[in-house]
Amino acid sequence: MTGALPPGSTIGILGSGQLGRMLAVAAAQLGFRVHVYGDAPGPAFDVVAAKTVGAYEDLGKITAFAESVDVVTYEFENVPLGAAAAAAAIKPVRPGPRALEVAQDRLVEKRFLSEIGLPVAPFAGVDSLDDLEDALATIGAPAILKTCRLGYDGKGQARITSAEQPGWALEAIGHAPAVLEGFVAFEYEISVLCVRGLNGTTVIYDVPLNKHQDGILDTSTVPAPISDAVRERACAMATRIAEALDYVGVLAVEMFYAGADQQEPLVINEIAPRVHNSGHWTLDACGISQFENHIRAVAGWPLGSVSRHSNAVMTNLIGVDVQNWAALATEPGACLHIYGKNDPRPGRKMGHVTHLKALTGR
Ligand code: AMP
Repeated sequence: MTGALPPGSTIGILGSGQLGRMLAVAAAQLGFRVHVYGDAPGPAFDVVAAKTVGAYEDLGKITAFAESVDVVTYEFENVPLGAAAAAAAIKPVRPGPRALEVAQDRLVEKRFLSEIGLPVAPFAGVDSLDDLEDALATIGAPAILKTCRLGYDGKGQARITSAEQPGWALEAIGHAPAVLEGFVAFEYEISVLCVRGLNGTTVIYDVPLNKHQDGILDTSTVPAPISDAVRERACAMATRIAEALDYVGVLAVEMFYAGADQQEPLVINEIAPRVHNSGHWTLDACGISQFENHIRAVAGWPLGSVSRHSNAVMTNLIGVDVQNWAALATEPGACLHIYGKNDPRPGRKMGHVTHLKALTGR
């Protein structure tokens, strides 16, 4: 275990949301201290030894934060590259800044994936109406126009059903630099949660089937109804990405399954260089969760087993869903996680519940 941080070391986390909170709890279980840096207090602040509120552009504060910890990781992919570089000048940042650079910009990401030979929807960069018309002429409708940066949960997107007069779509995304993507007629959405250790060892959790509602993840179910061959291909793609990025930690790769009759049944939608909502079921259905394995990886520890002891359905509690906590708390097999946010606004992830079922077959 050369280079492994011993218990008692401090893990620094950029980002104070629920992912940071669940990472911090996993780190505490292994005997680490945690220092969270956020631009506002958030759910992670309730469970850590040290916290800093500061702008991600305040490089003086970021430097002081990095000096106070032994390794830096992050819970969101929009950490400004300047902040990651400032921290990396002081302490190891894992996953490395290259993963952030690729995942922060949809166009850079799609080019990277294509260059390493992985399937993505047909795409083109769009900066103007001319670009959009050219892209539609090549890719055709239906298609989706997405901002290159800062889109999540379906935000910053416009679905174009006809190639005629597409100017409204640029308007809808505020004329931001964008990418046009061909529409994939998928049967299912799945994701691969791949963990790569400091020594390059890779382990992968079972692949969940993900269903969305209003652009937000609603449920993740394991096992997904895909063949072993598709599962293996999905895992091989995620491993390829992790290796190409010399990645350390949990990497989530969202994919479309277009059906067994397609020449290429899997198409990559996007990657997230962090623990992921579609892996929350690992907290309850596996001995070692995605959060613990991420901490193990960034601390240079051996990775833990990813095997699961139950089938599981994870359901997000969005907005007022969380007010159902008392009923959920009495449901047999329901494992409840509430993030401690005060205001249950519509569309806000307030918690999740994982229903476990006995393993059947796979
Ligand atoms: P994204 O923010 O890119 O993950 O997109 C949000 C959701 O929109 C995805 O989970 C899909 O359900 C849908 N979507 C995004 N891109 C495409 C595409 N190229 N073809 C079909 N559906 C898509």
